[in-house]
Amino acid sequence: MTVTKSLPSILAPLSQVQGRVITPGDPNYDKARAVFYGGIDKRPAAIARVASVDDVRRAIATARAGGFELAVRSGGHSVVGHSTTDGGIVIDLRDMAKIEIDAAARTAWVGTGATASQVTAALAPHDLVIGFGDAGSVGVGGITLNGGIGFLVRKFGMTIDSLLGAEIVTADGRHLRVDAEHEPELFWALRGGGGNFGVVTRFHFQLRPLPQFTGGILVLPATPETIAGFAAAAMAAPEELSTIGNIMPAPPAPFIPTDVHGRLVIFAFIAFAGDDTAATRAIAPFRALATPHADMVKAGPYLAMYPPEDPNYRPTAVARTLFIDGIDQERAETIFTYLSKSDAKMRVAQIRALGGAMARVPADATAFAHRSKPMLVNVAAFYDGEVDREIRRPWVTELARVLQPTDEAAYVGFLTDDGPSRLRATYAGATWDRLAKVKATYDPGNVFRLNQNVPPEGGGHPSL
Ligand SMILES: Cc1cc2nc3c(=O)[nH]c(=O)nc-3n(C[C@H](O)[C@H](O)[C@H](O)COP(=O)(O)OP(=O)(O)OC[C@H]3O[C@@H](n4cnc5c(N)ncnc54)[C@H](O)[C@@H]3O)c2cc1C
Repeated sequence: MTVTKSLPSILAPLSQVQGRVITPGDPNYDKARAVFYGGIDKRPAAIARVASVDDVRRAIATARAGGFELAVRSGGHSVVGHSTTDGGIVIDLRDMAKIEIDAAARTAWVGTGATASQVTAALAPHDLVIGFGDAGSVGVGGITLNGGIGFLVRKFGMTIDSLLGAEIVTADGRHLRVDAEHEPELFWALRGGGGNFGVVTRFHFQLRPLPQFTGGILVLPATPETIAGFAAAAMAAPEELSTIGNIMPAPPAPFIPTDVHGRLVIFAFIAFAGDDTAATRAIAPFRALATPHADMVKAGPYLAMYPPEDPNYRPTAVARTLFIDGIDQERAETIFTYLSKSDAKMRVAQIRALGGAMARVPADATAFAHRSKPMLVNVAAFYDGEVDREIRRPWVTELARVLQPTDEAAYVGFLTDDGPSRLRATYAGATWDRLAKVKATYDPGNVFRLNQNVPPEGGGHPSL
């Protein structure tokens, strides 16, 4: 236990924590309270860097007894800053990151504080994978509870489609094993229902064999024709191929010719889960769209998709996410026009073709119900300061509305503060009602409400 100064009496139970408790005044406080996104500058009363299930119990009990708002943090990448709090307690799981691999059984137990790249690196020597997202620094805790849509989504499905079970500490301090046989409704809810139900300490994953992989960055000039062509090729590709196309100004990366910097490009991540010959065939339609500005797609380890990241990168951005059925020429022109006329230092329309293994899971099998949506889009603009933020916001909202005027549904992992009707559409129909029932069973007082919150059925009230 390390407590840097004596705790105020209301936080005293935290002195029993075996991990670290960091409070204002601690030399590590500013570093410990930082989350991925810039512009989120909250000051928790205490950050409990928990080391055990008992620590998690103590932190929950302390928050409840003292009336503290409770934030739960794994990788700190919440797009709305849900994993920190002003004046409350943060349960920080980053030290609970143990990865135990059973290569023969192709399963692993993973502490929720591990990051996607840590897990991918641990699995690499076994040629085994779990599909996470497009950033290695994202926490396994948050992305898995949201669903997880990444480089292997069409081949192996979402992250939750590889989830066999979990261990969770609930609001009343129980430590539950959760899987298809134990607490099955909670198991259903954890797969897409976010952090609503308790603190998940470990996940049990099915591992997928990936002996051969081809992937990397392909940078193409962006025109309405290449944008529509990229989307069509991504949707028609074999399911071994998952792509993420970022239509944006070319960054000043060393592998992009300098005269292209700042011009609109399709900065694409290409990921083919299969052998080299089939990869070359599947990627050919993308290479044929235009002469690439850069082509770094090659056979190699899947781990290369997660290059080292700058730990001090703190972007500030407004964003909106949506599902659409594809990008025809008209939509491609809209995207091109909006991106051309904005002068935000960075703006992006990110397109991800879905389908494949993800779409074969029945809509009611997990709390992620949008299995049949063909394409996920994120629109974002980076800003500098609050004045600039309010300039960028209408551009994002407008482009998103033009692309998708009718369907409010979203992927919860990319949802920002979009209001209650979008959250309801995200957990559409029966999914919402079922989540609310599970919430009433496991967190009737809505202790875990700093999230995309599903209140307990029957109107549970805060009872910290
Ligand atoms: C740069 C970037 C790239 C991304 N790319 C993708 C992508 O490709 N695919 C995708 O699906 N998503 C992606 N996301 C979204 C990502 O899934 C969410 O932001 C996710 O919440 C991040 O997980 P985390 O553990 O880092 O978050 P944290 O900020 O630590 O947690 C976010 C919330 O999740 C809940 N939570 C986290 N851990 C636990 C736990 N152990 N127990 C209970 N509740 C918990 C809490 O409610 C918490 O507030 C991306 C986000 C960023 C910032």
